[in-house]
Amino acid sequence: MFIDYEAFLQNLESVQGRIAQAVAEAKRPEGSVKLLPVTKNHPVDAANYALRTGIDSVGENRVQEALYKMDQADHGIRWELIGPLQSNKAKKAASSFWRIQSVDRPKILSALQKSAEVSGSKLRVLLQINAGADPNKFGATLEDSDGMIEFALQQDRLTVDGLMTIAPLDPNPSVARKCFARLRECRDRLADKFAIDLPELSMGMSGDLGEAILEGSTLVRVGTALFGEREYK
Ligand SMILES: *Cc1c(COP(=O)(O)O)cnc(C)c1O
Repeated sequence: MFIDYEAFLQNLESVQGRIAQAVAEAKRPEGSVKLLPVTKNHPVDAANYALRTGIDSVGENRVQEALYKMDQADHGIRWELIGPLQSNKAKKAASSFWRIQSVDRPKILSALQKSAEVSGSKLRVLLQINAGADPNKFGATLEDSDGMIEFALQQDRLTVDGLMTIAPLDPNPSVARKCFARLRECRDRLADKFAIDLPELSMGMSGDLGEAILEGSTLVRVGTALFGEREYK
């Protein structure tokens, strides 16, 4: 059974406590890390709970599932795609999501640009980088990131807010931390090379948000620690 709102509030308080603690430890300004609740594989109430507390963005990792929830959920929620995107779904995705975090190849950039051109809109994206070189994870390689940014900057309908990564699953927290440090270094290098701002670093989940914040995360994507184990797969 899905958790009730009271239990969610308790989980939220605990996650916000962990974020605040890491922010203090990193000597970063209060409020410099945002929380993106990840509602995938949870009922639509998960998104409504978040909105009720004033959090107006949530992350979903499948286009179909997200479209269904957008239809059912309370109004005022901004949906972010954090899961793999096929180019045949790019059109739907471009018109439905507020931002797409999982852009990992030029073909997707082209497809999103084309869709946004047709609808006369602009779209925010993050480039997903496999900074941990994890064979199980999507994302462009660190080596490909220069070419990806260069290509992305030519797409006038797309605004690149920054980078996203998923750390390898490893019991040793230093593995995730190294991955996050690499993403930050990659961001700093690209921002410098192309003379652009890449303010958003989307990194850190339930298990590794502390490490991510110590390495400069601006956005942690948290599912399990807020909503419990995912209900369906
Ligand atoms: C599922 C998912 C999350 C949330 O993971 P938890 O461990 O449940 O916090 C974060 N980011 C991405 C890309 C995901 O797919």
